[in-house]
Amino acid sequence: MDVTRGGFPADAAPFSRNSPPDTPAVFDTMPEPTSGGDVAVLMSGGVDSAVLCIDLVTRGKRVFPLYVRFGLRWEEAELASVGNFLQAVERPGLMPLSILEEPVADVYGPHWSTGGSPVPDAESDDEAVYLPGRNVLLVAKAAVWCLLRDIDALALGCLRSNPFPDSTPAFFRELQSVLNMAMNGRIRLIRPLEACRKEDVIRKGIDLPLRHTFSCLSPVGDLHCGLCNKCAERRRGFRKAGVADETPYAASFAATP
Ligand SMILES: [Zn+2]
Repeated sequence: MDVTRGGFPADAAPFSRNSPPDTPAVFDTMPEPTSGGDVAVLMSGGVDSAVLCIDLVTRGKRVFPLYVRFGLRWEEAELASVGNFLQAVERPGLMPLSILEEPVADVYGPHWSTGGSPVPDAESDDEAVYLPGRNVLLVAKAAVWCLLRDIDALALGCLRSNPFPDSTPAFFRELQSVLNMAMNGRIRLIRPLEACRKEDVIRKGIDLPLRHTFSCLSPVGDLHCGLCNKCAERRRGFRKAGVADETPYAASFAATP
């Protein structure tokens, strides 16, 4: 894995959509491609950021994949998947992965994400997987990284179903404003998938090696556990998309969730 450590129109309105349509055409909300312009993509290991990353490259962007390591229980397997995916889709315009360190165990304490208690299971609500301050921590560090390198935009793979208070249009609008005020910069925080559902993104990425993506809270070695909240969401997404799920799960299943 090649790893380093470490433009969209300025007057466009990436956060203007308040309520997505019921049946969005995939990526209808993507900014129109422009000539030039660099964008960093926050990689989570999952399908959404993986598909977003390649879509931006296809649109002519130079894309800098960025992974922020919080020290959470699934990150070793997740980061390995990010590396495998990027290696499998290598192409011009896709830059080496950069990894930033931002450990949160001293802040979170004995939290389920750091191994302090069982992870939310397949029956839990989406709200159960909220990580306190996740996006403010992620975006602040990543945006400073971008601003110091003259990268025009920072892209996140947030979907329409994201229920968290730190994923709203208002949150990103205000955070973008504060970051640019703090750094006297012009970075844009963009969420091109904000009107998409999981199944829309899976269909969009049907020709990509999605088996190399990862979304599990409690991996068994390098396998998805098959039993956690994120595994259930992943399985539902593939099923709704009508796309074969090639993910190797540690658990065997008696029924489709
Ligand atoms: Zn899992």
